[in-house]
Amino acid sequence: MSENAIKVLYRLHKSGFKAYLVGGGVRDILLGLQPKDFDVVTNATPEEIKGLFRNCRLIGRRFRLAHIVFGRDVIEVATLRGHHVDSGEKISKTNAEGRLLRDNVYGTIDEDAERRDFTVNALYYDISDFSIHSYGGGLQDLQSRTIRMIGDPNTRYREDPVRMLRAVRFATKLNMTIEKDTAAPISELAPLLKDIPAARMYEEILKLFFNGHALNNFNMMRDLGLFEPLFPLVNSQLVDEPNGPANKMMKSIMQSTDSRVKAEKTVTPAFFYAAILWYPLSQRADDIALEGGLSLYDAYYAAMGDVMEQQCSTISIPRRFSTPAKDIWQLQLRFDRNQGTRAFKFIEHPKFRAAYDLLLLRASAEGGAVAKSAAWWKSFVEGGEEQRSVIARSVNKGSRNRNSNQRRRRKPSAKKTSENTGEQAASPSTDKPAG
Ligand code: ATP
Ligand code: MG
Repeated sequence: MSENAIKVLYRLHKSGFKAYLVGGGVRDILLGLQPKDFDVVTNATPEEIKGLFRNCRLIGRRFRLAHIVFGRDVIEVATLRGHHVDSGEKISKTNAEGRLLRDNVYGTIDEDAERRDFTVNALYYDISDFSIHSYGGGLQDLQSRTIRMIGDPNTRYREDPVRMLRAVRFATKLNMTIEKDTAAPISELAPLLKDIPAARMYEEILKLFFNGHALNNFNMMRDLGLFEPLFPLVNSQLVDEPNGPANKMMKSIMQSTDSRVKAEKTVTPAFFYAAILWYPLSQRADDIALEGGLSLYDAYYAAMGDVMEQQCSTISIPRRFSTPAKDIWQLQLRFDRNQGTRAFKFIEHPKFRAAYDLLLLRASAEGGAVAKSAAWWKSFVEGGEEQRSVIARSVNKGSRNRNSNQRRRRKPSAKKTSENTGEQAASPSTDKPAG
């Protein structure tokens, strides 16, 4: 257990306050897992906590909390929460749908437990006698691997719809089952996720997809109807074409994210969002090109803004990630236009590697012309200096020959899939990237 958390618990205890370790820290230790963070609760108020620790920062509005800072390690200390009924607006507040907007009423340990989400998250380790307080059968549920909502699930999801995503995340991470009554209201209440501030949703999505269980979370979110309200553009493609490339792309990006996390390699939201939104983007670009008579290059450019903006209305992707995601998209167009000597320049581009990785994912999702283009680039990327020159020359010739019959544009009624599988790579100046 974290030494810093123990220090905090003892300081509170020795100053005459109650002090407990709670939440994921207790749960994960009991399951033999390494906790991600350690949360402490106490009956000391935020001001009293601040008086005890020099390294203390008070934060938050929705929940007022103390952060005790030990270099890069932060122990979060909260005051035990009470019920919020009949209290003035200043300390607790809900909106029309029953969602809690402010929540700063203090209370007892039982009251605090009733406010937590699942029984396995309501285990308290008491530093005064080293005992565990379990609430609502938390210890039994831990043993039977059950995610069970504390209180009435319907009400609790309305208070905070993010709890629906948390149920999924804990079920997959802890290899547990969501108890029947806890699972039952989710499909109906899933649309409430649209009202959650997009900035909070961004964080929740990272926890779901960058924790090594992305594929399972994605599948369970789709089954429970939680994916649609958050990723409407992607979801409609998944529904329209169950065997289409978007479905394969989702599966491969989730799998590759999981294996990178497990190998402790870096994962970036820029690449992740570039990949999951690629097919919505290319569909939008096709539509713009047909409607507005734009070249596909210009259409892609316009579509990038549209698609990113629409996605950001539910999940706000910070600009430091959305900008490189757009770079990765734009570079997809260069895989066809840069063969020959220009390939040598392209490969030096700082975003080449990310763009190339997306090309490989597209190739396995679509096959056809994209797979051919990807195969060419693979041999170029993996080849030595001399081999590369030979490869670059050989394909340059080939692509010039091919271009003669490339002016043909897709008929307005033609399905996108037929183009992807049936036709050749696109024209270098006006057409779509590799298919
Ligand atoms: P992990 O840190 O591994 O993701 P955790 O259970 O510690 O899991 P946190 O988000 O760190 O989750 O929250 C700490 C504790 O606070 C939870 O265990 C739970 O008791 C309570 N909690 C957090 N978010 C909510 C919520 N939305 N509704 C009710 N209780 C919550
Ligand atoms: Mg935690």
